[in-house]
Amino acid sequence: MKKINILDKKVANRIAAGEVVEKPASVIKELIENSLDAKATSIKIEIEEGGIKSIVITDNGCGISSEDVETAFMPHATSKISDLYDLDNIKTLGFRGEALSSIAAVSQIELTSKTEEEDLGTLLTLEGGDVVSSTKISCNVGTKIIVKNLFFNTPARKKFLRKPKTEEAEITHLVQKLMMANSDVKFKYIVDGKIIYNTMGSGLFDVIYTIYGRETAENLIEINFKKDKYSINGYIGTPEISKANRTYQTLMINNRIVQNFLVSNSVANAFEHFLMKNKFPFFVLNLTMPFDSVDVNVHPSKQEVKFENNNMIYNMFYTATLDALYSADHVKNISISNENEVQNVEEELKTALPIYNNIKVIEEANSNYVESDSQPQIQEVDVNFGISFKEAQAQDKLFKFEGGLPILNAVDNEMVFNKMEYKEEPFVLFSEKPKIIGNIFNTYIITQQKDDIYLIDQHACHEKKLFDNLVKSVDENQVAKQNLLVPYIIKCNPIEKVFFEENIESLNKLGFTIETLNNDLIISEIPFLLANIKIEDFIQELKENLKMVNKKSSDLIRDFLAQTACKHAVKGGDVLTIEEIESLINNLNSDMVLLCPHGRPIVVKITKKEIEKWFKRIV
Ligand code: ADP
Ligand code: MG
Repeated sequence: MKKINILDKKVANRIAAGEVVEKPASVIKELIENSLDAKATSIKIEIEEGGIKSIVITDNGCGISSEDVETAFMPHATSKISDLYDLDNIKTLGFRGEALSSIAAVSQIELTSKTEEEDLGTLLTLEGGDVVSSTKISCNVGTKIIVKNLFFNTPARKKFLRKPKTEEAEITHLVQKLMMANSDVKFKYIVDGKIIYNTMGSGLFDVIYTIYGRETAENLIEINFKKDKYSINGYIGTPEISKANRTYQTLMINNRIVQNFLVSNSVANAFEHFLMKNKFPFFVLNLTMPFDSVDVNVHPSKQEVKFENNNMIYNMFYTATLDALYSADHVKNISISNENEVQNVEEELKTALPIYNNIKVIEEANSNYVESDSQPQIQEVDVNFGISFKEAQAQDKLFKFEGGLPILNAVDNEMVFNKMEYKEEPFVLFSEKPKIIGNIFNTYIITQQKDDIYLIDQHACHEKKLFDNLVKSVDENQVAKQNLLVPYIIKCNPIEKVFFEENIESLNKLGFTIETLNNDLIISEIPFLLANIKIEDFIQELKENLKMVNKKSSDLIRDFLAQTACKHAVKGGDVLTIEEIESLINNLNSDMVLLCPHGRPIVVKITKKEIEKWFKRIV
């Protein structure tokens, strides 16, 4: 009995559709990419009920001529490649000729399109891949495609669709990415009749502002990096706006959205010394490179990419990011007035700078002022020099230590970082010696340089300095150790033991001499700095780190150094002598990055112009 059948074209096509058309978002991706390939400069996307009920994409691209309209819906119909040579030189987003036929196979379609040469366009309707009607119609140059009732003829697939809101969220995420990848194209995105985005094609910065809002836009560092035929352009977020997951990372190659672990790793490693724990940097970066050195065809949905030269790509992103982070000033600008008028100061403050600790001071000062109903109250400035701070003096050696760049051996994987020629100048805060005005709340030092006033957080500033020095001494294997007359013995379970054995090298670098014997941990030397901290507590903390899977040893070191620096730095509220303040300020003149090890700002700037606006001397 005959068992093998050749599937009829329609069945085969409906099966193939499953690969391209998984969900509404994949339909939208294909359709927008078609519009982009057609050189559209304006694209409108409308969805209803998460795209399940309807998707409408309207573009002003080149259009499809009436003689091609029906062909476009045939499997393997493409105008983008015609032979094998073309396959190696793909510059368009689509090329497989599968999308329209696959989408048509599982939906009801209405396509209107016209090319420049034609007087009249074509209106084609299809159902389940079959042409229902074709008529001439008067319309604009470009293409409008309506996709209705997705999976109406494949109930099994329809069942797998998620709730409309979930599908919608995924579409919105996709539209965001495509807007960023094509920031010179105007996008209008409408969900259930409501305009969500309406961009002007005015560049990446504006798109980021539209999508992520003002706070993010105000915290971007631009990257423009070039090496041979490669360039990296776009923005990274400052450490303060780092996120809890990777969904705020956008990578493009030749303006195509891709995903690549190597690159996100490289950027994350460059951020390592600027970021709080478990945070992921924000970035939107486009890599421009020769088309033949990257394989974009690895994954069917064309998101993963393979590079010819992984090492070089890794290093480029690492260098570009690190240089951008070092060259950025990280100084917070206080701007509580908008261009024309000081409005609701408090409101403005909240939207302008919601996450800076420093803002509390200003808010408090402000509310004090409002509360005092009788005479106008001037905030008293507590200028206090005199009594010295013991803790810092005990660490005098560290305090005066000359600073270096806080670069640990950051790259924990096999990739070795070689610094490349490109280098931005590190930012230096004070071009000349600033005038020290005083100190408020025993916490913020006020200095003036020309027309700018700087508030400096004494704790964050000292902490950062100590941290940089500690990093340097660890890097140079110069951590002072203290020999213990009686070694500490700490009992471990087998898992803890393995953990310590695996990290013994890092712990040695930090100044510990540790051996494991059976299930005991024997500590014979400890870092000098830990002499007055309870060793048990520290070891306990390390054990707790066990819970964090895959904690890298460089993270361990960094956390340890940050903690140590924090413990030994002068605190907010400590009274400093003028010499001590000067010493702190001098530190700022080195190439120290103005963020504390937890990623918080050290310096806040207020311009004279800003103050004049407060008093309405200028508007
Ligand atoms: P591919 O994009 O891989 O070529 P598709 O099935 O997505 O395959 O599209 C088939 C063809 O239809 C394209 O090659 C293109 O010529 C034409 N086409 C599709 N969408 C548009 C559009 N919005 N504007 C102009 N031409 C289009
Ligand atoms: Mg296509």
